Amino acid sequence: MAAPLMMGVVEVSENDIKIISMNPTVARFFELDEKTMLGKTVEQLGMPKDTIKDWIKFYRHALETGQSHDVGYWHETGQGKRFLSGKINFIEYDKNGKPLFSFIIQDTTEMKLARQELERQENFLETILDNIPDMIFVKDAKDLRFLKFNKAGEDLIGYNRRELIGKNDYDFFPPEQANDFTGMDKKVFEGRRMVEIAEEPIETRFRGKRILHTKKIPLFTPNGQPQFLVGISEDITEKKEAQEMQKKVYQEQVARQEIEKLLEARDEFISIASHELKSPLSSLILQAQMFKRNVSLGRDDLLSKEKIISMMDLTEKQVLRLDRLVNDMLDVSRIRTGKLKIDRMEFNLYDLIQDVLIRMKEQFLLSDSGEPKFTYTSRTIVGSWDHLRIEQVILNLLTNAIRYGGGGPIEVHLSQEKNFARVSVRDHGIGIAPELHEKIFDRFVRAINPSEVSGLGLGLFISMQIVKAHGGRMWVESKIGKGSTFFVELPLSK
Ligand code: ADP
Repeated sequence: MAAPLMMGVVEVSENDIKIISMNPTVARFFELDEKTMLGKTVEQLGMPKDTIKDWIKFYRHALETGQSHDVGYWHETGQGKRFLSGKINFIEYDKNGKPLFSFIIQDTTEMKLARQELERQENFLETILDNIPDMIFVKDAKDLRFLKFNKAGEDLIGYNRRELIGKNDYDFFPPEQANDFTGMDKKVFEGRRMVEIAEEPIETRFRGKRILHTKKIPLFTPNGQPQFLVGISEDITEKKEAQEMQKKVYQEQVARQEIEKLLEARDEFISIASHELKSPLSSLILQAQMFKRNVSLGRDDLLSKEKIISMMDLTEKQVLRLDRLVNDMLDVSRIRTGKLKIDRMEFNLYDLIQDVLIRMKEQFLLSDSGEPKFTYTSRTIVGSWDHLRIEQVILNLLTNAIRYGGGGPIEVHLSQEKNFARVSVRDHGIGIAPELHEKIFDRFVRAINPSEVSGLGLGLFISMQIVKAHGGRMWVESKIGKGSTFFVELPLSK
């Protein structure tokens, strides 16, 4: 009688429920007194028809199954809706053949409301998580099993959350990948702070390999124990593809521009080369014509031995110039096709420089520079190099020093360093702008106006390739108006 639960016995007929017995709690709930209620049907007590129908249904169910039946019901009262929950049990048939039931019912409105509020909040969170386009998951720190997975995650991985929750990475991914993922999880807990993985490949069930940008955040209990790991992964596969595509387009563009630049340089080269070839040729033609005319006119005065020798000298010079130009062009094509060969033999670099200086003596004397000053640290610096090719490099540097040296003195220095021999050729001429210090070693590049000094812009390119083929280095130090020093370093051992 004193129980805070509503308890009693009812007799249930087709359309109504009669109260046979009950405790005071029932009367209190219905705000009626016990005497009024006992022996009355609920219809007589003013219970709405629909409510009566619902309850009869519950009792029938209990009768059919013969088991105790759980009920939960929002009951309309004078003070608004109350939630009743409890159990009803079939007892026996009474003498009228009507079933009797016991009921134990509790007013659990507050609990129900609290639970509903919790559900609402959970749904609210779930709705937000499911509408975020990035995959979000939560793992238990203990065994790294999944506790939560949002919709974007299900779509990406290809499993629904019922399949995912309670499982770990090894249930869904190839072992190696699962190792990577869980390894990283452990690191995140060790480091005790968020870790960002810029790019992480993942094998999915239906969408093949995808690339993720993932953030992993460790959560700890108030006393600092690892509790959860929250992961947020953005699928950047398309973004990355677009970036790659953009990069490719950009690279193609750059390549095209390079080609255009090269074509332009080639065209300029052809025009310069034709001009360069043309002037010795014109001069040769002119000489030949003059010689023929002098012979046919019988001008013996113009055909003296000295005259003929000087004419032949000139002819030789022009032919040699043509030969040099053609050789340079051949070298460029050899370099391009990788056919530049280095024939090594042991020789003394000092001797080679001396030879070149002697051979160029006339050219030096004809220029205002005069003979170069040659200094050295040793008269024997022997290495295994290509004699002809190294000679070509030194010749090129000295010819340039005359050409661009503005008639100032030229200095050649030879030294033996730790593992290499170094030659420098210094002039005091026009100098080279800093932005061209590397460029002048490119094909067809000429730093100065083509009309000013003749040259094909090939010498330094060829020299650089020769030096490189020896495993050496070549560079220039120069200031505009102050002259230039070209350096060549050749390794002493192959
Ligand atoms: P070329 O002399 O036939 O033009 P090179 O390849 O020998 O070709 O030289 C390339 C360019 O480098 C030259 O056109 C010139 O502008 C610049 N250059 C080379 N040597 C010197 C130097 N000693 N002083 C100033 N500029 C130089």
